[in-house]
Amino acid sequence: MDEGNIRLALLLIGPGTLSVFGLSFLWAWMLERKRHYLLLLSGGCVSFALGVFIQVFGWPSDAGVNALVSNFFYISAVLAVSEGLLRRSGKKFGVIYAISVLVMSSVLIWYFFYIDRSLVARIYVQNFGVGFLLLVVAWRLKGIVRGRFIDKALFWMLLGFSIQFFPRTVLTVEPYLSVDTSLFAESLFWQTLQLSLSVLGAGLAFVILAAAITDVIEDLRRERDIDRLTGIFNRRGFEERADLLIHTTGGSMAMVVCDLDHFKKINDSFGHAVGDDVLSIFGSLLRRTVRSNDIAGRIGGEEFAILLPNSGLLDAQGFTKRLHEAIATTIFPLPEGAQSVTSSMGVAVSQEKRDRASLFERADKALYTAKNSGRNRTVFHHDIAIEKMTSPDVCIGEAAG
Ligand code: GH3
Ligand code: MG
Ligand code: MG
Repeated sequence: MDEGNIRLALLLIGPGTLSVFGLSFLWAWMLERKRHYLLLLSGGCVSFALGVFIQVFGWPSDAGVNALVSNFFYISAVLAVSEGLLRRSGKKFGVIYAISVLVMSSVLIWYFFYIDRSLVARIYVQNFGVGFLLLVVAWRLKGIVRGRFIDKALFWMLLGFSIQFFPRTVLTVEPYLSVDTSLFAESLFWQTLQLSLSVLGAGLAFVILAAAITDVIEDLRRERDIDRLTGIFNRRGFEERADLLIHTTGGSMAMVVCDLDHFKKINDSFGHAVGDDVLSIFGSLLRRTVRSNDIAGRIGGEEFAILLPNSGLLDAQGFTKRLHEAIATTIFPLPEGAQSVTSSMGVAVSQEKRDRASLFERADKALYTAKNSGRNRTVFHHDIAIEKMTSPDVCIGEAAG
């Protein structure tokens, strides 16, 4: 390979890498078509690569037209990536912003090519412009720095990438001032630009791709762990989160298990669909009643579990009382005259070291007692004894085994 080819190959590393990322974003979009922002990111990568190809291969050959066309692709790329990143976080710039930026940059490039001919001015316009556009995106996304690790990484990479446009341009363009324009590709400016693109640009693209894949995986995981009918966790989701909470939280904790009373009758008398509606309403009722740190899950057909962190006996009593009241005041879709929906509850409270299985077992034992002693009530299995509540809000503190 002669020197010219080696130089050409080196020049194409940056746009080549970006094209691969463009295809990766396209592939990710094909897997999850509702994520339109992936298409914008894909388009952005491809557009930037096209800009470099146009400049490197000198097509169109007229220098002025080439400057305008490559600038169009560069700025479109930055706008598409900006819009993609914002859309990912539920924000946007919109079409009018994009058109205004494109028109403004085209006019400036045209002016500094045809009126006040200055390559250095064009370099400043493009690099400071792109740096500024990306800084605005970083500013609008600053909230994600408090998010997951991948969002933090994305923010800092974006900020670093935006900022480097300013010092890099200032430090590398000046030596070029006195150099013949035909050697542009050999200039320090062009080569550091390519290096920053290949290393930082590709690094940023990689982090964005990782963030997009994390989004998809987290969504799938959420879907896997949520019960569709009730909108709360399914057994798997509940157990996973309960285990995590138990292992990471100290202090007392309460597990509540509830089972709807005579649910079979509802199914038998009014049909399975009505039974489903009752379960769905019970799910929303639970979601309204729990605190944000509590974990609620449907662990069986009409059986639910709620883990209450930082809760002692009194807190658990307060919770089950509120839940019984919510059930009593909720209108379920049952024909008039039907027996009202009620639930029996078993509660286990633990002050010290515990594991989910034993906490659940004790709560379930208490639930069994509640069922056997007339239903529509809560029984507490404390560390050493079971305290029975004969009605939803009265605790008589009777000890049992
Ligand atoms: P008990 O008061 O003793 O709990 O009486 P029960 O009739 O509620 O008895 P059990 O808890 O054993 O009955 C559960 C019923 O819940 C049986 C099953 O047909 C029904 N079921 C389970 N999953 C679903 C579901 O997804 N939808 C509907 N409609 N019914 C379900
Ligand atoms: Mg039941
Ligand atoms: Mg049951």
